[in-house]
Amino acid sequence: MLLTITTTHCPATDLGYLLHKRPDRLQSFPLSFGQAHVFYPEASPERCTAALLLDVDPVGLVRSRRGPAGEGGLLDQYVNDRPYVASSFLSVAIAQVFGSALSGRSKDRPELVETPLPLAARLSVLPCRGGEDFLRRLFEPLAYEVTARRHPLDETFPDWGESPYHSVSLRATRPLHELLSHLYVLVPVLDNDKHYWVGDAEVEKLLRHGEGWLATHPEREQIARRYLKHQTRLTRAALDRLLEEDADEAEAQHDREEEAIEQRVSLNEQRLAAVVSMLKESGARRVLDLGCGEGKLLRLLAQELVFEEIVGLDVSTRSLEIARERLNRLPERLRERIKLLHGSLTYRDHRLSGYDAAAVVEVIEHLDLPRLSAFERVLFEFARPRTVILTTPNAEYNVKFEGLAAGKFRHKDHRFEWTRSEFQAWANAVAGRFGYRVRFLPVGTEDVVVGPPTQMAVFSRSDHAGSSPEVTTNR
Ligand code: SAH
Repeated sequence: MLLTITTTHCPATDLGYLLHKRPDRLQSFPLSFGQAHVFYPEASPERCTAALLLDVDPVGLVRSRRGPAGEGGLLDQYVNDRPYVASSFLSVAIAQVFGSALSGRSKDRPELVETPLPLAARLSVLPCRGGEDFLRRLFEPLAYEVTARRHPLDETFPDWGESPYHSVSLRATRPLHELLSHLYVLVPVLDNDKHYWVGDAEVEKLLRHGEGWLATHPEREQIARRYLKHQTRLTRAALDRLLEEDADEAEAQHDREEEAIEQRVSLNEQRLAAVVSMLKESGARRVLDLGCGEGKLLRLLAQELVFEEIVGLDVSTRSLEIARERLNRLPERLRERIKLLHGSLTYRDHRLSGYDAAAVVEVIEHLDLPRLSAFERVLFEFARPRTVILTTPNAEYNVKFEGLAAGKFRHKDHRFEWTRSEFQAWANAVAGRFGYRVRFLPVGTEDVVVGPPTQMAVFSRSDHAGSSPEVTTNR
């Protein structure tokens, strides 16, 4: 079994530093299933090729019971394709012989570790179960140029047809550790087999070597399933974590985009400062932060000792976890006034009753329009705090954001963004329906034509403090 990696990066012999193997030597390494040899068929400043030759010992495999426990009995154990094809043995060899390169470490050329290099990997014989088509579906989304030549089962007996074996070359310009990670994971996936028992540790390995590419790979399910030898429990565990990673990455990406669009650092700070000051002005002691996200407002509220009880609620457990982690860094005496709740604002929730004020900062635009009336009742009819401070983007202002295409929302999860008149019409109607007064305030620097970037509504219950509210629950 032969794998070669060629680069034309200049000087090409830097490959030796990245692989931690000198180009002028043949080096051999004993492995549990045979021998690995590393040598360089060519090593000039223009072009350098490293070769990893695996000499798998089929007799040793049977004796150490590492071989395929084939149904063909002893013969199948001794006579099989394992010594000649790229398989999970290659992954083990990559991890053991090129371990530093695989994990992206280089003592001598640290700056090259993340540098995209022109690379070509050639695998003399790769079993592609699922055919060339599957081979392409695995590597092309990772931006490899794939060349494959299929071999007949036996050249002297063309009637026997084609074999699953291909000579494969993969070309791409990318950091070496990424190429090695892709091979490490995808070679056994193509082979659809592994020479060892697969357990929980294998999920960790898959996620570790799949970091940064597997979560968004269109074939991630097949990859996980085959890598984990079709074990349903392990596959599901891996996919759950990949999906989470994907969602987190997507969310972080959206947040970065929104941040870039809004220059959020300043706008977000201004918005939160405005909300804190309105909450203080309202005289509230016990406050809710509905759709608290990762807890930025909660942290500010914690610093204000007038607030005796502070409750954050969000539908996203992931956001709540991050909020909890951040709040844990506060001194105990500030933190103990804060409680986090998991819940949705579109379902009536008794835990939200009895508070003085609620902040709903940049949340309503994340709700589907048809669910908005449920939210209105949950907040204004059932929770019914004396004061509600609610902010949302002013859609008119979007023309001022350079990075935002016309007609687009500021965040991919926004279901709508309202103009000032749309927002005011909604807020006035809600106030009228539920017995509140409402006034509107700008947040951020106001433009004479399109208004402020953020709009804020401050609702106060008409039956002000003290008197018990008339709750209409019979609708
Ligand atoms: N208020 C925070 C977060 C705004 S992002 C800030 O200003 O930084 C919108 C938040 O609303 C997200 O954390 C999202 O999880 C939450 N959210 C969306 N739909 C929700 C629902 N139905 N119930 C509760 N929270 C919701």
